[in-house]
Amino acid sequence: MTRAQNIAILGATGSIGRSTLDVIARHSSRFRVVALTASRRVDELAELCARHGALYACIADASLAAPLQRRLHERGASATVLAGAEGLVQAASLPEVDSVMAAIVGAAGLEPTLAAARAGKKLLLANKEALVMAGPIFMDTVRRHGATLLPIDSEHNAIFQCMPVTAAGLPTASGIRRILLTGSGGPFRSRPRSDLGAVSPEEACAHPNWTMGRKISVDSATMMNKGLEVIEAHWLFGVVPEQIEVVVHPQSVIHSMVEYADGSVLAQLGNPDMRTPIAQALAYPERIDAGVPFLDVFGIGALTFEQPDFERFPGLRLAYEALKAGGTVPAILNAANETAVAAFLEGRLAFLQISEVIEETLQSIPGGEIGTLEDVLGADSRARAHARTLVGRRCSRVA
Ligand code: NAD
Ligand code: MG
Repeated sequence: MTRAQNIAILGATGSIGRSTLDVIARHSSRFRVVALTASRRVDELAELCARHGALYACIADASLAAPLQRRLHERGASATVLAGAEGLVQAASLPEVDSVMAAIVGAAGLEPTLAAARAGKKLLLANKEALVMAGPIFMDTVRRHGATLLPIDSEHNAIFQCMPVTAAGLPTASGIRRILLTGSGGPFRSRPRSDLGAVSPEEACAHPNWTMGRKISVDSATMMNKGLEVIEAHWLFGVVPEQIEVVVHPQSVIHSMVEYADGSVLAQLGNPDMRTPIAQALAYPERIDAGVPFLDVFGIGALTFEQPDFERFPGLRLAYEALKAGGTVPAILNAANETAVAAFLEGRLAFLQISEVIEETLQSIPGGEIGTLEDVLGADSRARAHARTLVGRRCSRVA
């Protein structure tokens, strides 16, 4: 029997992190949890480390290292404590780790995810923001260090499954005419724009088909999530923006499709449960049980498709424009979006103001070439500062 695959999960306390642990726990002889990380939730992290026998526990907020140590001790867990940004990078590049699940939300995941690529790991990528911000650097790092990149985002995982792979196991865009990137349309798909002014964070986070973290749930409601996914698809599969078509598919049964030059369209279907793409990537190229109920094709009834509405959901248009502009513009888009979504979740910004803040930030902060990671991080912090000012100006109007 081959030895177990050693796994590090960045963002273990989140929605993707927990789903990953659920799949792993079903196959205890196949996978071994080596490192788990969290932002600030010490109790949850200690509990997960105890339950899954992790060897390393990393807390991103370094001031919480001592409380984490205590909690681990109380639970009889012997994990070594790592902390801070450096700890995250260490957890992602431990020599005994084979595979890294990159499931931190947002730009905070960029450096540890890049570290995993630099260490040549099998990299299971959920953290789409890292790729959106630093696409060229990210893909170059993967290639130069021989990392294996497997997409976890359900659409990209579906596309990967519908694409031919080269002898080296890399997906190839050869013969592809278009990628049909499906999306449910989110909780406000059929609501008129005039209704969206006063929607609450709870309404925005009530996704019809998927249970996810709060940031990506709001992104789904604005459709910025689909915009970020267009940029993600460009980098993962080497297709130009004109080859990526967004298709609203409210049932979330088809997770995306690939159209070929000969007229064939390949699709991947399944119940909307992230454990399917997670299990596909964990076991790749084999297949394992994910704990997901099998698809009842007779129960689904109809599968329907609609054009996306770029006017009601400007985030999608802004993302296409950012991708076409290139350089640091997608990083500016991402930073403005993260700032605006955080403000919306804190009740400091109205829903429709999210895209206003992003558009105004894109108009004010000039994009530039990406030469080094510093170019990306500089654009990110300038965009955040500008977006925060724009939020501040609107804040009094919301309250
Ligand atoms: P989540 O909010 O549920 O979890 C986020 C995780 O990141 C938590 O473990 C948290 O502790 C950690 N984290 C947050 N801020 C951090 C920081 N500053 N430093 C270090 N760690 C930090 O989010 P999620 O829904 O699991 O999403 C994670 C990523 O996966 C996102 O990039 C998201 O776009 C992507 N994704 C999620 C889904 C889904 O179904 N949830 C689907 C596709 C892609
Ligand atoms: Mg997705």
